[in-house]
Amino acid sequence: MIRPGKQATLLPKQPPLSNLELTSREPPAIFAVNDRRATTGLAPGSRAERLASSRVWICLSVAILFGLATSPACSATRSQTKSPAPRPELGTKAKPKGIIHVVQPGQTLFRISQAYQVKVASLMEANRLKPSTPLKVGQRLFIPGAEAAKKVEASRSLTVEERQALEQSLREEVTAPPPPTEPPRPRVKTDAELLWPIVGPLNSPFGPRRGKFHAGIDIGSPHYQEVVAAADGEVIYADATKGGLGKAVVLQHGREFRTVYAHLSIIIARDGDTVRQGQAIGGVGETGRASGPHLHFEVRKNGVPLNPEEFLPATIDELVRDLQRKR
Ligand SMILES: [Zn+2]
Repeated sequence: MIRPGKQATLLPKQPPLSNLELTSREPPAIFAVNDRRATTGLAPGSRAERLASSRVWICLSVAILFGLATSPACSATRSQTKSPAPRPELGTKAKPKGIIHVVQPGQTLFRISQAYQVKVASLMEANRLKPSTPLKVGQRLFIPGAEAAKKVEASRSLTVEERQALEQSLREEVTAPPPPTEPPRPRVKTDAELLWPIVGPLNSPFGPRRGKFHAGIDIGSPHYQEVVAAADGEVIYADATKGGLGKAVVLQHGREFRTVYAHLSIIIARDGDTVRQGQAIGGVGETGRASGPHLHFEVRKNGVPLNPEEFLPATIDELVRDLQRKR
């Protein structure tokens, strides 16, 4: 079993300046509703988080004892965890900010999260929803932080043609490198848009391989290790491909981005499901063309495979290597 908490090997992060922000005025859908885990590196319930929160308590106790508001060490610790909630005025009840959205036909949690730019996990928490529970028409959802109603697109499954094109792309092996669409992003970075779908060694990177082109990365892992969604999204494919990728799941994140999870032993996600970042979608396997169990993971932008490593947090090995280079 693996939990997103395992991602605690990441370092604290700085606000990203993604290429999308440089090239597009539109909010980058895949990044816009990023998870705290991916930006702070402190996964809920992880040892690092427990440590940080116990430090907060120690600091608070010390501050109370000595009548100090904050010490620099304490504020540094606190900024790593949670910013203090604004104190309500005396005599007034603190009302959580947000609005009520009434679910219309075809609307899913993912589409609502996209429209309001709120994480799926936040919507689920605010409304006490369970994963993969379909919304009901007329259901009232509290949208935390929202100030005005937004237009929410109805979810729709792929058309026959779109599905065929996707299946074809999952069957073919890329023989030529895709044309570069954007300048490569700095490799070792401390911010990240995606979560590692599993923790494991990078067995085969993105790029030319044996006269062909490897359109994703291979992450080594034992059989049945839980594969999680790298970002909030919608399941658009959860089936056995007829090609080398074996059993695969494809998630749609916003309009442009898709992620592919292949060679799975089992598929948990179902077509049309909303998945939140870190939610289990299947188990590692070696279906299709695979020499041993591993996860083949792809990031596609408008159908063009991009190097997933550019969107993932640096591994601890990379950070150590980077530190050694600086010395
Ligand atoms: Zn692969």
